[in-house]
Amino acid sequence: MLKQSIRTVYNFNAGPSALPLPVLEKAQQELVNFRGTGMSIMELSHRSKAYDEVHNDAIARLRKLFSIPENYEVLFLQGGASLQFSMIPMNFLKPTQKAGYLMTGVWAEKAFDEAKLFGEPYEIASTKERNHNTIPNIKDLQYNEDDAYVHLTSNNTIYGTQWKEFPNTGNVPLVADMSSDIMSKPIDVSKFGLIYAGAQKNLGPSGVTVVIIRKDLLEEANSEIPTMLKYNTHAKSNSLYHTPPTFGIYMLGEVLRWIEELGGLEVVAKQNETKAKYIYDVIDGSNGFYIGHAEPASRSYMNITFRLADEELEKKFLAEAQEAGFVGLNGHRSVGGCRASAYNSVPVEACIALSEFMTQFQENNR
Ligand SMILES: *Cc1c(COP(=O)(O)O)cnc(C)c1O
Repeated sequence: MLKQSIRTVYNFNAGPSALPLPVLEKAQQELVNFRGTGMSIMELSHRSKAYDEVHNDAIARLRKLFSIPENYEVLFLQGGASLQFSMIPMNFLKPTQKAGYLMTGVWAEKAFDEAKLFGEPYEIASTKERNHNTIPNIKDLQYNEDDAYVHLTSNNTIYGTQWKEFPNTGNVPLVADMSSDIMSKPIDVSKFGLIYAGAQKNLGPSGVTVVIIRKDLLEEANSEIPTMLKYNTHAKSNSLYHTPPTFGIYMLGEVLRWIEELGGLEVVAKQNETKAKYIYDVIDGSNGFYIGHAEPASRSYMNITFRLADEELEKKFLAEAQEAGFVGLNGHRSVGGCRASAYNSVPVEACIALSEFMTQFQENNR
């Protein structure tokens, strides 16, 4: 049934999630003796020439693939996207200052709550009343010209909604949590003051957090905070102030090489749309057997969320899907239902197989 015979399942996990098979195979080949060093990449000094190449190569690939302008730093940090929820206000929000948050889901709420510890965050818009099934209209957004920043979550992993265009916030830096759709499509980085993402959804294994930050913001950052929590510490040392997650950065670089070889972000974006469409088409053609959570205009190409008529039927669907080799289709523990995460590394083949399974399940249970 599976073309990739070593892979015995179709992985739709929400995060950590699928990695490209060629990358895993290459890592396996290089695991014990890394490029003639006689050691594993995990055993090399982070100050060695061999590691330095891996580190700088990953940064260079990120810059090139994502078209990151010269006036931005690329940082590799630890602590996940969750630590960024705190580091952003800690560095940029003064106690009397405001920051606007776009409340489109659980991750946005967590980011908002952390900001309360440092200053005065406020809600620019919230989709909570609609159970986060939509994205606010960018034309209706009201914020203050002297806000420290505006924060949004580009893809709402749990609810399956995604911003299709971003607001122009002028002089107010736009900060985006792109954990679950970074590098799934080309974007204009110059619209943002800061972009951050935990690697474990679209970029590699868990343990690395990518931060892309405009250099002028570094000059304004708070210097009265712990060394490790200052963006400046990491920017000044090329993310080598302390031991970085070397294996994770190596894997991230290899995932980016794989994206390059596919043809770059334009190609990946098209693939992602096609993949998601297989599944949305089944939902839309099911006469209400499958009920999509997100309203069509706000649908995510990364996380496809849906329900069935009742919990009994959902349980049956999930159990049979598991049996048929589909992994990770249960919704987030906070919302229930079903979710298929079709990140960059999930092959088209897996989405076709899932769409066929869903059609068949409907046939059998109508
Ligand atoms: C997964 C996720 C997070 C949490 O990431 P960690 O790296 O586990 O801290 C935050 N934001 C979004 C949008 C996510 O998808």
